[in-house]
Amino acid sequence: MRSHLCGQLSPAEIGQTVQLCGWVEHYRDHGGVIFFDLRDYSGRVQIVSDPERTPHSYPVAQQLRLESVVQVKGTVSQRPPGSENPRLTTGAIEIYAAELVILNPVTRALPFAVSGNEPVREELRLKYRYLALRGDRLQQNLRLRHRVVQCIRRYLEDELGFLEVETPMLTRSTPEGARDYLVPSRVYPGQCYALPQSPQLFKQLLMVSGCDRYYQIARCFRDEDLRADRQPEFTQLDMELSFVSLEDMLRLNEELVCHVLYKIKGIQLPRPFPRLTYQQALAQYGTDRPDTRFDLRLVDVSDVLADCGFRVFREAVQTGGCVKILPVPGHHAQTISNVRIKPGGDLFRLVTEAGAKGLAYIRVREGYELDTIGAIKDHLTDHQKQALLERTQARPGDLLLFGAGPAAVVNKSLDHLRQHLGRELHLIDPEAIALLWVVDFPLVEWNPEEQRYEALHHPFTAPHPDDVEHLERARALAYDLVWNGTEIGGGSLRNYQRPIQEKIFQLIGLTPAEYEEKFGFLLEALEYGAPPHGGIAYGLDRWVMLLAGADSIREVMAFPKTQQARDLLTDAPAPVTPEQLQELHIRFELPQDE
Ligand code: ASP
Repeated sequence: MRSHLCGQLSPAEIGQTVQLCGWVEHYRDHGGVIFFDLRDYSGRVQIVSDPERTPHSYPVAQQLRLESVVQVKGTVSQRPPGSENPRLTTGAIEIYAAELVILNPVTRALPFAVSGNEPVREELRLKYRYLALRGDRLQQNLRLRHRVVQCIRRYLEDELGFLEVETPMLTRSTPEGARDYLVPSRVYPGQCYALPQSPQLFKQLLMVSGCDRYYQIARCFRDEDLRADRQPEFTQLDMELSFVSLEDMLRLNEELVCHVLYKIKGIQLPRPFPRLTYQQALAQYGTDRPDTRFDLRLVDVSDVLADCGFRVFREAVQTGGCVKILPVPGHHAQTISNVRIKPGGDLFRLVTEAGAKGLAYIRVREGYELDTIGAIKDHLTDHQKQALLERTQARPGDLLLFGAGPAAVVNKSLDHLRQHLGRELHLIDPEAIALLWVVDFPLVEWNPEEQRYEALHHPFTAPHPDDVEHLERARALAYDLVWNGTEIGGGSLRNYQRPIQEKIFQLIGLTPAEYEEKFGFLLEALEYGAPPHGGIAYGLDRWVMLLAGADSIREVMAFPKTQQARDLLTDAPAPVTPEQLQELHIRFELPQDE
């Protein structure tokens, strides 16, 4: 149907007769001469029709509507001087449409303009996703995603000998910390499959099978509480390798990430990537996924203030919490007025929303005089003041913002504050890419609601060999890769011997009967010659989002759901027929209307 793609044409084709297909864009009638752009995925080219030069096509051109699908035949010509369009790669040429066929007219009012930059409500863009995808930005994102996956496949398969294996969708629950999506069985009344939260157990079993290096572009399903920018189904680059040390894993993955960045963006990153332990990350940034593109760092001053005269600080430390400072250097501190820090101010609100009770501050004046609201400074001894200044290396003009209370609250609120100020004070170079590994995560953490330990990553993660005597305090052989403050991947070395895996199941509160029932198949497999192994999974959607410079994973998925987990295009989830439910032996008990 076509001889060329629209965006491929250039002055080199001047004089050639070409046949093109595509969509009508940017239609304008200049008093007897009709111009439009013909667009396909490769780009666009200007088409012209007038009664004299193209009497054949002119009546057809008069009927065109935006986004109708047409076929054009004509000769490529140079645009008249002065009418070139430097914004188009085909801006120096145009095609007089000797023939113009409407292959399929648009017959309804378009819900929104496909090309152009007017903001369109997200619901509309999701309901008419195929139209949104027709626009340049999402088209480019889809193609970028394709290139990223292609590049990953080539590298893993051709350079590193990975084997792609598909694992089941209808399976048993794999614990990754979310709720399962369940699929009731028709054949086994009362029983359900779970959609995989990850291919975790299958990929480990593939190592027992001797596959050595596995990968999969794997769809995963997690029924999580609706949080910003999560999708019920998402895609992982999932990997597992046998006979690797933690250093091998990190090195190979750094190579992979650098390869993709270089191929896709032409960026060469230095290796090895920086590493922070979990403890360091929390101490310095208040989070285990710090944005290290800018250098504001938290400073712990709990020891300095443990028995100071200011009750809030003293009690925070004495009840097992901490006092930390976010120091803001003078030239930035000047733009932060006290009104913003005091109750009612936006920074005060920001930290209280993160759970903090308040936001204390000290300004360092000329001569290292300390200036505060209320009584703080009167309750500090000279020695304590001196120690604060030394610890924070503060200079005249600097602002010290305090968090005091339980460590989790202090870290969360100062992390939010740090990120907010990083953006507001333009401390972040938009071009910068800061990648780092966070390592030495705790193996388990205490869940006070359930009164039990739970795995920080998942229960298949191996403890650090130096820490096996005290598993509840052990570090894990786990690693997360953080990109500009977003966790894009994480994994671990695994328990490949049955006894240690059993101990960890027991640690997280499973009885032998329970773990046999849930994971007996894995424990048994570990007894038939399981090699040492480990793996990692990347959130492919997030990765592509960052490469695309998009601000949501919905922008890099073809058919995403809303943040309320609805598919507006097909309108799912949807009711099913009573017959279907009966076949599945299901009766709904619906919540009462409020
Ligand atoms: N299964 C883990 C996850 O989905 C990744 C891994 O441990 O390989 O986060």
